[in-house]
Amino acid sequence: MKVLIIGAGPAGLSCGYELTKAGIGVEIYEASPYVGGMARSFDLWGQRVDMGPHRFFSREKHINEFFTTLVKDDYTLVNRLTRIYYRNRFFHYPIKLFNVLLNLPPFTILSILWEYLRIRLFPYKNPTTFEEWVSNRFGRKLFEIFFKHYSEKLWGISTSKIDADWAAQRIKSLSLWEAVISAIFGNKGDKHKTLLDQFAYPNNGTGTLYERAAEYITAHGGKVTLQNPVKKVIQDAGGRVNGIELKDGTIVLADRVVSTMPLTLMVKGLKDVPADVISAAEKLYFRNTILVYLEVDSMDLFKDNWIYVHSPEVKHGRITNFRNWSKELNRDKKTTILCMEFWAFDHDEIWKDKDENIAGLAMKEIHIMKLVPPQTKILNTFVLRVPRCYPVYETGYQVNLKKVENYLDTVENLIPIGRYGAFKYNNQDHSILMGILAADKITQGLDTDLWKINTDVEYQEEARIKDVLIQ
Ligand SMILES: Cc1cc2nc3c(=O)[nH]c(=O)nc-3n(C[C@H](O)[C@H](O)[C@H](O)COP(=O)(O)OP(=O)(O)OC[C@H]3O[C@@H](n4cnc5c(N)ncnc54)[C@H](O)[C@@H]3O)c2cc1C
Repeated sequence: MKVLIIGAGPAGLSCGYELTKAGIGVEIYEASPYVGGMARSFDLWGQRVDMGPHRFFSREKHINEFFTTLVKDDYTLVNRLTRIYYRNRFFHYPIKLFNVLLNLPPFTILSILWEYLRIRLFPYKNPTTFEEWVSNRFGRKLFEIFFKHYSEKLWGISTSKIDADWAAQRIKSLSLWEAVISAIFGNKGDKHKTLLDQFAYPNNGTGTLYERAAEYITAHGGKVTLQNPVKKVIQDAGGRVNGIELKDGTIVLADRVVSTMPLTLMVKGLKDVPADVISAAEKLYFRNTILVYLEVDSMDLFKDNWIYVHSPEVKHGRITNFRNWSKELNRDKKTTILCMEFWAFDHDEIWKDKDENIAGLAMKEIHIMKLVPPQTKILNTFVLRVPRCYPVYETGYQVNLKKVENYLDTVENLIPIGRYGAFKYNNQDHSILMGILAADKITQGLDTDLWKINTDVEYQEEARIKDVLIQ
């Protein structure tokens, strides 16, 4: 059997790795010159960086085995420090009660408590939007301070238009009460992902995982070709998928195709797709990210791994400090690399603006926040655009996605997976799980519903990197 995989990101490579282990011939076609997709690591100014912060965490045994088998003990357990910056003040994330009390004026605190009590008594009956869902959990005031501005920067639409799915996936069942209990008594139960404060990080960057998966595949007879974009998936006369067409026109035939290319583009390339499915796919859209890297002439700027920037007066939404991940990343350099994230749609001015203007804006904002003292030099800047980074969960998106999913379920020999491949707001662990389960589907003929990953808590098993390694 020969399987073609479109894309060498976490989903494509974990699938390729599992298939190669099972003795199945795999060919991976990757558009870019790199493996790792959005989770790749790369050299910059003599140091190593990721594409923004990449914390790996999973409770699922197979995902952790994938990590531990490839990374071995070449990782650091990082104590996470993440804060929220809001109107010139820093708040711990997850929220720490005393920190909130010290940072907010008494009137605001009373308003938080009042709004919390109010929503407990009169909650939104069927919360369908992000705004309603979060307000039900935390009260309206906390929602405004800790969720609204950041989410609107990220998604570019009002929180009243963002689907509750996003909150349900990311915040799980964490409530204000639990956040408060955790703030007072610590997080010994380790119950919710959002509260975890330690994670395993490959010493040479998160991309190590994917570089090693690609090495394994090629060392065991598989093929990973870079700079080889796929134009479309091809089908035989009966509609069954039987290969791919590369951008240069080459046809490659196979028994199965696993696709992690953007779902919206992939569907359009198929033949005889009903008009209502095309129209549903056209209504699904993505948000882009602009990463601005700054090399700062200092080794001691702040201790956070990353900071969420909720303040509406600056445009960026998150800053990563790569000095605070593993020692190896910095390679004995005496400077610090920061990465600031701006989000945009294709039509937004900032997306079309010149690199030097975007870097200028980033430097201005980092000074407004006083994270880099005015006398400290910024030695270098680098702007990286990441298109189609976030599938936008605008209210009602499930109806369109479901239509596309139902149609693709009728196309034989095709398995769409991945963050933009399946239009799911995946972290690495979700994409890896999709890859592993896609491989199981092929090798064991299973009927697993891969669309459910990242929407269904049943996949979250109890196992942690640390537990797997220590036993
Ligand atoms: C700024 C940022 C911060 C993040 N933080 C975290 C974090 O803290 N923790 C975490 O776990 N995850 C994080 N993520 C998410 C993580 O990067 C993704 O979940 C993961 O990379 C998704 O893997 P994937 O294989 O599904 O998709 P991708 O990584 O997007 O890989 C898809 C691959 O397919 C290739 N491709 C696309 N079209 C074609 C084509 N036509 N032909 C051939 N190849 C094609 C692409 O070039 C890409 O390499 C973050 C992402 C970003 C951008």
